[in-house]
Amino acid sequence: MIINNYPWHDALWKRLLPWRIDAPHAILLHGPSGIGKVDLGKRLARFWLCEAPTAQDACGTCPSCTFVALDHHPDLQLIRPEALALSEGTREGADDEGEAQEGDDEKTSKRAPSHEIRIGQIQALLESTVTGSHRGGRRVVLIYPAETMNPFTANALLKLLEEPPPATHLVLVCDAPERLIATVLSRCQQVAVPPADWAQASAWLAAQGVSEPATWLAEAGGGPLAAWRAAGADETVLEARRAVLAGLARGEALDALALAERLAKIDRSLVVGWLQRYTWDLLGYRLAARIRYYPSEKAAISALALGLDPVSMARYAKALAGLRRAADHPLNARLFFEDLLLRYAGSVAGT
Ligand SMILES: [Zn+2]
Repeated sequence: MIINNYPWHDALWKRLLPWRIDAPHAILLHGPSGIGKVDLGKRLARFWLCEAPTAQDACGTCPSCTFVALDHHPDLQLIRPEALALSEGTREGADDEGEAQEGDDEKTSKRAPSHEIRIGQIQALLESTVTGSHRGGRRVVLIYPAETMNPFTANALLKLLEEPPPATHLVLVCDAPERLIATVLSRCQQVAVPPADWAQASAWLAAQGVSEPATWLAEAGGGPLAAWRAAGADETVLEARRAVLAGLARGEALDALALAERLAKIDRSLVVGWLQRYTWDLLGYRLAARIRYYPSEKAAISALALGLDPVSMARYAKALAGLRRAADHPLNARLFFEDLLLRYAGSVAGT
């Protein structure tokens, strides 16, 4: 696996160095999304497993570091939702252990990849930790995003947190610790990963070749990696984003049907995200003259906010937030977008 180091982690990394000698059994890395917390977790894992670490980091060349680089370290386990593993394109994604492995009928083996960490993954982890580590050193388990464990799955993990096997270290990573069950939270040493410094993040984005880093950084709520991913999307997606922003700027005059038609092939959660941020900016400007996500759209947002009924807009924002997993929505894409855009036009008009 490729593990990136980011300059905004430097100060925290220095504070975590003493754990090379005395790593806790379980830590929780939490902080805003899109700042590279998983990379930080992987970097810790590589450091803790390294057979010849320097005072500052893993050596990068010992057998352990080589296994990590090849995604093949027998004592490093990554536990994440199947859908995420597949999108990362790694070995574990291709032959994920789980209940769909043996004797399942066609229907279950064709099920959509899970967006949750399944209880079967935790059960398999529990079984694998009964024996000692393969290389005779530590074993590290990276669990992300930890909030994708439902309460049953989290409860299964509790056994490992309550009676940690020797030399086994769990690194949980999450954006929203409040969504973890209290018993899990209380058994992890919590590490708050701070947001990226704005200037540092802008400079980093510029160095990655992102033009208008400030625009993308604002839209990503300050998360440089999220900004980098958004800026580097396919031209089709970038084009759709421009069309949505231009459409939303028209307020109640928005041509919902035409725009929905253009969006039919775009990932629903992306579009919902654009709508959410724009709506929050309208409300933010109406209530506090503040624009967080789309400062470059200030002219349109301030004009629309003038006549805005905050109650009706807040109701719309709440409905968008209720579409937690937009991809699961039963309506077909065009109807789904039509509905959202018509409701937007109605909410801007205060109806
Ligand atoms: Zn090493």
